[in-house]
Amino acid sequence: MTGFGLAGKVRADPRAAYLMAPLRLRDLFLPVLLLFVGACAATPRTTWNYGGMVAAANPYAAEAAADVLRQGGSAVDAAIAAHAVLGLVEPQSSGLGGGAFMLVYDRAADRTYAYDGRETAPAGARPDMFMVGDAPMGFLDAWQSGLAVGTPGTVALYEVVNARHGRLSLADDLARAIELAQQGFEVSPRLAGFLVQMRGPSRIDDNPATRDYFYPGGEPLAAGTIRDNPAYAETLTRIAGEGSAAFYRGELAAEIAAAAQADPYPGTLSAADLAAYRVAVREALCAPAGSETVCTMPPPSSGLTEIMILHLYDLFAATDGAAPVIEGVDLAALVDAQRLAYADRDFYVADADHVSVPTDDLIDPAYLSVRAGQRVAPQGIPEPGDPGEVLRGQPIGDRWGRDGTDEIGGTSHLSVVDREGNAVSMTATVEAPFGSSRWAGGFLLNNQMTDFSRVPTLGGKPVANAVAPGKRPRSSMSPVIVFDEDGELKLVAGSPGGNSIIAYVAKVLVGVLRGGQPVQTAVDAPNVIARGPTVRVETGMPGGETQADGLSALGYPVEEREGENSGLHVIVVTPEGLRGAADPRREGRVIAVN
Ligand code: GLU
Repeated sequence: MTGFGLAGKVRADPRAAYLMAPLRLRDLFLPVLLLFVGACAATPRTTWNYGGMVAAANPYAAEAAADVLRQGGSAVDAAIAAHAVLGLVEPQSSGLGGGAFMLVYDRAADRTYAYDGRETAPAGARPDMFMVGDAPMGFLDAWQSGLAVGTPGTVALYEVVNARHGRLSLADDLARAIELAQQGFEVSPRLAGFLVQMRGPSRIDDNPATRDYFYPGGEPLAAGTIRDNPAYAETLTRIAGEGSAAFYRGELAAEIAAAAQADPYPGTLSAADLAAYRVAVREALCAPAGSETVCTMPPPSSGLTEIMILHLYDLFAATDGAAPVIEGVDLAALVDAQRLAYADRDFYVADADHVSVPTDDLIDPAYLSVRAGQRVAPQGIPEPGDPGEVLRGQPIGDRWGRDGTDEIGGTSHLSVVDREGNAVSMTATVEAPFGSSRWAGGFLLNNQMTDFSRVPTLGGKPVANAVAPGKRPRSSMSPVIVFDEDGELKLVAGSPGGNSIIAYVAKVLVGVLRGGQPVQTAVDAPNVIARGPTVRVETGMPGGETQADGLSALGYPVEEREGENSGLHVIVVTPEGLRGAADPRREGRVIAVN
């Protein structure tokens, strides 16, 4: 089934684009010399001796992925297997009814691909659809509304990446999830906790289908209960047999549309929207930061902020003679880099297929050098910069109204490296916990449309991230793959956590790449989030109080918070082999496959 194909052409990341440039004779001298030297030095890219590894948010999912790797599946096969299981055992976070970003590193081709399976706004969506009179709808109403449901992208993504990077069939990739859905899985403490917590604010226990599934007999599923999901098994079986058409057309598409069009606040998602869904194959955004190259998803992802933060961090850390350094990390430099990157992100990032986003400008070293000069005093308020003015003398800062949209946590990240050294960094989401609480075919529908700005204009100016038909909402999800100075795979990372994803991922990049921290130390470290004037510090993790005190002493307005919602799943290539980390704040697991 090929109907749900690509809405863009595959382009190589800049490292590969260089290899494809037309050759002149004198250009051959250096490559031939390098080839000779390389042959003498036996470049490591010819063999991969590290085995494979998976880091995912739930043991069932990690086991499924490891099993697929052992069977000879690729990193992409393993990621699909893990994710299909997550849709069953961690339905509060992601699943078939949501969307995902997937970065794929193909080691033999030395290319990194960026697949955008983000939800799209239905054709009937309108910029003011979340307005009630002159005021935006309250978040709780918008979250549980039919208007919040975007066209899901996950299943189309499975199909596209399996066709392009899979070694096994899609049916093989889905087999473990089907079996587990038929046999039943043990409800985890985290899922059970969410079912208690979300009872009040959401409609998860009101909608008949989700009530019957999650609250049998009126009580939330308890941790340790065995829960099967025959409808989910049936949906996956049909996708395994018929491809994504089983999802985007026919009976299931009609069921999804009906759920989105139901009260309260019916949405417009239709069978035609589902039939029209396309995965966008984007150019991976790759840029040097220090001696490494960081590859990430371009907009509507916020991945570019990771490049900005690492770059700004290096500029600040180089000049911060006396700043407190904890575990090798200059905390003030990390906070100040985040402040500037968040301010730019909130202003400029949206779906670049619909509005103009200065992606390349924001990560241009010339802009970042000037931006570093706008470092904010600890008590100051970070403002967006203007890359148009800096780079071309043509201001673009008056173009948009600023978007302060908040996102709350229902997302999952998984990292995989296969036995050939290919890698996948995948962040998947239904947006808030249990998405819109609407249900079809054994899975939940997303509420991703609330990642758009609910107000279409601010201060008389349009908001870049305003709703429009077919548009993808801005996302904080920032999957990354980092390469070392020789272009060898170095780190695969990402996290859930709404807006704070940007800070969570940056903590790991800076901790591992600059602080030299072991990967688990970097993941365990207290999260520090600097979006806007205050700095949030996670004091519930060891060392958090020290960091909060240190930043307060420097004059930052610190807001202490006991726990954070990160779910970092990271793999690092070290001289001793692969090292992985699962976030202790969730239920994840790392499994090595040799
Ligand atoms: N929906 C959010 C996004 O795409 C993520 C929410 C979360 O991480 O929990 O940015």
